[in-house]
Amino acid sequence: MLEKIYVLYMLHLIFQFALTLPLQDVDQNEDLFLMPDLSYLGSSVFKEPNSESGKLVDTWNETSEINPEELGEYAEGDIRFPKKGRNGMIAETFRWPNGVIPYTIEGNFDSDSLKNIERAMDIYHKYTCIKFRGKQSSDDDYIAIVSASTGCWSSVGRIGGRQEVNLQNPGCTSKVGTPIHELMHAAGFLHEQNRFERDDFVTIAWQNIKRGHESNFDKAESSKTTGFGVPYDFRSVMHYSGTAFSVNGKPTIIPKDSTKTEKMGQREGFSRGDITKLNKMYNCPEKTTAVTGSNNGNTNSNSNAESNKTDNKNENKENSNPLVNIAQGIIHALFQKTKAQRK
Ligand SMILES: [Zn+2]
Repeated sequence: MLEKIYVLYMLHLIFQFALTLPLQDVDQNEDLFLMPDLSYLGSSVFKEPNSESGKLVDTWNETSEINPEELGEYAEGDIRFPKKGRNGMIAETFRWPNGVIPYTIEGNFDSDSLKNIERAMDIYHKYTCIKFRGKQSSDDDYIAIVSASTGCWSSVGRIGGRQEVNLQNPGCTSKVGTPIHELMHAAGFLHEQNRFERDDFVTIAWQNIKRGHESNFDKAESSKTTGFGVPYDFRSVMHYSGTAFSVNGKPTIIPKDSTKTEKMGQREGFSRGDITKLNKMYNCPEKTTAVTGSNNGNTNSNSNAESNKTDNKNENKENSNPLVNIAQGIIHALFQKTKAQRK
């Protein structure tokens, strides 16, 4: 009997060890691995918070075709770093130990905005191993959620010390997806449409992009970022809207596959792919299994997670937004090529 228990225990240990192997495989072999070096984003990543971005977000409302975080005059719209210590800061950008992200809420948020921020965190807690918890005196590194009139923005990953996530109130807080989006930057993720292999899935219509904003569509470096095995994900909460940074209202991002209508730029909640990537980054396969049925989550990475249906009470309201529907009509997507098909 004892021998049986011993054998079972050893099998359990081996199984636990095996669960960690795919992560190592991903890190070594997958296309992109999210690293702290964001130097490819150029000097715009150090842009100071500015009121121009805030004024643009002030004009935003829920009927807008694009998302408020796509209005910022920052790197890719909403990514920024403090100016001091440029390269050092970049090099130190990293994951949050054990997925714990201490935070303070320092902005002037009305109760609805606060609820959406808290709901965003609850959705992280439900579907990932990220743990937002109030900053304690022993926490050196934390995010301060502020509400300056400078738009929606965040740094990418843990940069050390206090780092701000700005959620202009109410422009950046009226949909739960915008806090989810900015917090996913803070957790360590860049924009989906800037994945290095995105040209296989979308065409960037450079002629429709506002002059001076072309760099928002620069691709990430293949050696510095990873998709954690999740195929290009049109439904990612980190994907821009199809008309982001458009000068003329025409699409700036056009899916190559027009057979299915897809919601690029959705801010209703995580896609399954988002959940898979977060849980791979933070070594938490069991949460992915709970949502997708497999710990790599790839099969359903392009469909929205249950989180959207169960946690987002505004989903129906948002789906009925006529402008969003028009945008969806224009922008057809969903393209899940297998790696073999890609090239
Ligand atoms: Zn963003």
